Amino acid sequence: MRILVVEDDSALAAELSRTLRSENLAVDLAVDGEEGLHLATTEHYDAMVLDLGLAKMDGIALLRDCREKELTLPVLILTARDSWADKVTGFRAGADDYMTKPFLPQELTMRLRALVRRANGHAATRLACGRLTYDAQLGHFELDGLALRLTAFEWRVLSALMLRKGVVVERRELLERVYEYDADSDSNSLDVIIGRLRRKIGAEMIETVRGRGYRLGPA
Ligand code: CA
Repeated sequence: MRILVVEDDSALAAELSRTLRSENLAVDLAVDGEEGLHLATTEHYDAMVLDLGLAKMDGIALLRDCREKELTLPVLILTARDSWADKVTGFRAGADDYMTKPFLPQELTMRLRALVRRANGHAATRLACGRLTYDAQLGHFELDGLALRLTAFEWRVLSALMLRKGVVVERRELLERVYEYDADSDSNSLDVIIGRLRRKIGAEMIETVRGRGYRLGPA
């Protein structure tokens, strides 16, 4: 799961990144509206956290532009603007959720997970695939009912496969969902991560579809 955070307050941006990364999420940070729009339209994210008061391009203008370009990623507005009129403007511009500052970081994570779950077409919070279960709201995996310990990279790959279980997830898409913009992926290349996951959950659970990608599902 990879989140774009568009936030010009550097202290808050650092806190947001820390919070989301501690929950295994990959985070890219944009410090103004133009950079946010550029990243949103050139990279692939599971969701965007969007501040409204931004240099170079206001958050509402950024959001309208994204929706005009038919970008479907869920967008959560995170702002100090708390009037009803501001919320109406935000939702009418295409927001999927709206939170006001000050906020609880855990609530932001919970809302983002719900947005990503729904965006992948899941109503239930608990997904199962063979011996593997995933709590999409807590981000926890279990294998045969026992907690599965995963590194952040392993979690990102497995959650991406789980949200699309039974379907081939293209290699390119997995890469985009797993690595931050400036990530050095050598020791955590996708093949290495897939190998480690297979050892943890059973080789038969992750099928390689040659030339395309990977599919999660009991063989
Ligand atoms: Ca701001």
